[in-house]
Amino acid sequence: MFKGLLLTRSEDGQTQAAITEIDEAQLPPGDVVVQISHSTLNYKDGLAITGKAPVVRSFPMVPGIDFAGVVQSSTDARYREGDAVLLNGWGVGETHWGGLAQRARVKADWLVSIPGGFTAAQAMSLGTAGYTAMLCVMALQREGIEPSAGPVLVTGANGGVGTIAISLLAQLGFEVHASTGRLEEAAYLQSLGAKEVIDRHTLGSAGKPLQKERWAGAVDTVGSHTLANVCASLKYGGVVAACGLAQGMDFPASVAPFILRGVTLSGVDSVMAPMSRRVQAWERLAREISPDLLARNTETIGLGDAVATAQRLLTGQVRGRVVVDVN
Ligand code: NDP
Repeated sequence: MFKGLLLTRSEDGQTQAAITEIDEAQLPPGDVVVQISHSTLNYKDGLAITGKAPVVRSFPMVPGIDFAGVVQSSTDARYREGDAVLLNGWGVGETHWGGLAQRARVKADWLVSIPGGFTAAQAMSLGTAGYTAMLCVMALQREGIEPSAGPVLVTGANGGVGTIAISLLAQLGFEVHASTGRLEEAAYLQSLGAKEVIDRHTLGSAGKPLQKERWAGAVDTVGSHTLANVCASLKYGGVVAACGLAQGMDFPASVAPFILRGVTLSGVDSVMAPMSRRVQAWERLAREISPDLLARNTETIGLGDAVATAQRLLTGQVRGRVVVDVN
């Protein structure tokens, strides 16, 4: 038996969450059983736990889209007992029982070895947010955006993806501008490497199809009007790596920035990203992340705090990352 957060749905469609004793025999099929030490709370976990969006596709469900721990048993030759592994995405925590528990059984194909130098807790200080931030940086670089092209913008700056994207881009030599609703956190964002901090409300409502050219690139975690205004404000040939929907799933934009300024909208998905790109992202994180970021950007909670913290996360009251020590 082990402890996990179990989501069920009541007859009136409400999601209910409770810490439950789970029998290992109840775990879904898979080749590898992982003894989880740490999971995290990402925005999507907040949506799943509170039931605010239909992230969970079948009930009962153990939420948690990422986890780290050691292999307890494996029928796949690639993994042996004691190996340190992590997992991001693949529908785990949505369609397959996830990381907010002390055990998970998953496909070996979904696992990544924790890169040397990271503990499980450090790997989860990055978690899906950090891995996605790196995928966004890689997308900008693939499209040829270099520091000499001009400033880059990060939206949702105080969130998990935002804080890590700021730090990574600043380390690479970019002039980073950060858009936030929490201007009181400006000093923190500057300590991560942001040169300018702007009020997110300046980007949050309908704007002109083409605006003053401000940024060579952007990492957008917000979507909706913000993404439309970011596209309209990119310099000629600019690129935005779009990964999120914290403001909304809509995209009320015009084609003007694409056809008149050659702007590129580069979509970033972490869930089904191919293994080669995942491994590259994690290896780059191990090399490039500033070691002191992991501790100061992370709040660690227990499983018992996950529900209350999920609510705080969705109302924008969490700064940086939340790691869940499931033991
Ligand atoms: P967090 O909750 O940690 O951060 C989201 C941030 O967005 C908040 O801190 C806040 O920043 C800002 N924000 C919140 N509400 C609004 C709003 N109404 N309007 C504008 N900004 C808002 O989430 P994550 O960093 O974990 O994820 C960010 C986004 O990226 C989410 O939408 C998530 O679903 C998505 N995502 C997508 C992935 C993919 O594979 N495509 C993978 C990982 C995340 P501030 O207070 O600074 O304004």
